Amino acid sequence: MIGLMMQQPLLVASLLTHAERHHASQEIVSRRVEGDIHRYRFADLARRSRRMANALVTLGIRPGDRVATLAWNGYRHLELNFAVSGSGAVLHTINPRLHLDQIAYIVEHADDRIIFFDLTFLPIIDALRARLVEPRLFVAMCDPEHMPETQDGPLLCYEDLIDAHSDRYDWPSMDENTASSLCYTSGTTGQPKGVLYSHRSTILHSYAGALPDAFNCSARDTILPVVPMFHVNAWGLPFIACMVGAKLVLPGAALDGKSLHELIQTEQVTVSAGVPTIWQGLLAHVSGRNNAFPSMKRTIIGGAACSTSMAAQFQKLHNVDVLHAWGMTELSPLGTVCSFKAHQLALPDDERYAVQAKQGRMVYGIDMQIVGPNGQPLPWDGETVGDLVVRGPWVASAYFNEPGLQPLCDGWFPTGDMARIDSDGFMQITDRSKDVIKSGGEWISSIDIENIACLHPGVSSATCIGVHHPKWDERPLLLVTRSSGSTLDKDELLTFIEGKLARWWKPDDVIFLDAFPLGATGKVLKNKLREQYGDHYAGRDAPRQV
Ligand code: ADP
Repeated sequence: MIGLMMQQPLLVASLLTHAERHHASQEIVSRRVEGDIHRYRFADLARRSRRMANALVTLGIRPGDRVATLAWNGYRHLELNFAVSGSGAVLHTINPRLHLDQIAYIVEHADDRIIFFDLTFLPIIDALRARLVEPRLFVAMCDPEHMPETQDGPLLCYEDLIDAHSDRYDWPSMDENTASSLCYTSGTTGQPKGVLYSHRSTILHSYAGALPDAFNCSARDTILPVVPMFHVNAWGLPFIACMVGAKLVLPGAALDGKSLHELIQTEQVTVSAGVPTIWQGLLAHVSGRNNAFPSMKRTIIGGAACSTSMAAQFQKLHNVDVLHAWGMTELSPLGTVCSFKAHQLALPDDERYAVQAKQGRMVYGIDMQIVGPNGQPLPWDGETVGDLVVRGPWVASAYFNEPGLQPLCDGWFPTGDMARIDSDGFMQITDRSKDVIKSGGEWISSIDIENIACLHPGVSSATCIGVHHPKWDERPLLLVTRSSGSTLDKDELLTFIEGKLARWWKPDDVIFLDAFPLGATGKVLKNKLREQYGDHYAGRDAPRQV
């Protein structure tokens, strides 16, 4: 027997119509690439998105066409989210930090009809035009006064398009499984692959992300997504803000500690989200101060492991709760969030920080397990490590335009991560499978070693890689950046690590660097470090390039 409830498709545009009707006067604040702060309200977002939807029709965009952006987090980028997806086309958010060859590859692969870009990225656009086989339309996301001089071909102006079009537009109804946006993996493991989200997956992901044990967002929050919209739709936070009616603060290109701190203070941000490298800059900026973010209640840290020391700094010094989260492009991206269960609240600080080093519990909708080499499920005992596989309505089932790739294995998506899960269901990533250190036939978790190293006050950040060893196959090598003013040396750090890990896990050597090589989403490129230091224990390092 079929239930008798309305069949109403879950569509991205409904987030905007809801926000306009119920939260019309809620603010959206953007730091523009022009340098100033721009403010308007959800009612303005809705009006201008409709104008842009009409402009897209005039430009010949049809349902299913791909429309790309090379843009920071800002109000115009947000408008495109609704104008493009809401009208049935597909928003392709390009990561501008990718190599130009990769950008050219994905523009061709996605067959983008139009590329909207922030002025910062004009050099990329100029270089890109020459490489593209077919001409595309380019739109500079600025007003006529800021239009750049360019000799390289026609260029449209965003604000001219807005001005020239009516704000009367009826968002079309469509199948909720229609594609809404496209995001390419950052290519740290091979050529970028396109993950094609649907309206349905986006709405379900927003519901899940807003939940109290997930990002915990409400109409009383002011959300600052530092994570860019080109990095998996800013983890869905702009959509969640519309769903719950939260104030939204969009930081543009200024992601340094000082600019972020300023924005958090002036806008009274309550929730922020970003990768650990961004928060390192923020914490360094306020170093020596306590309670530097009085309005901020919590910060979501993900994309790479959040160290216990980072969690402790936010919580002890600044009274900001840390929500450690795990996900990936193929998961829209949310998989797990580390929020406490009731019985953990009374634990002593150190034990609570140990819980927070875990990536957390799956949000409802995501199913996960760890499996052994033959795909057999492994126990949730907090110790056994296996390959993490997931499934759920916002997990990719295939890649865009890659009929030869079959990512699923018995209906599960293999994440490429190694993890353990404890009896409370808290998952902890121990490594990416390609980063795991194989020493004497056993595995060593690089993330566990990094966590311990970061507990030393002289360590600003730590990365551990497995490098070739003549006897043990691989041995851990620890690479560290020092905190400012620290004179920490190898012996002191190794003595500090002693006793906190199994003896044979202790790295054989430590190398101090000024900075680590970072990838397009702000993660440390361990493959680059392995290339350089792979022969370290044989006494041969490649010349330093980092
Ligand atoms: P890419 O795979 O191209 O780097 P993603 O942004 O999709 O792009 O990266 C997802 C991967 O990032 C995960 O598979 C995992 O290895 C890593 N990751 C994400 N969040 C965390 C976290 N909290 N702790 C450790 N690793 C994480």
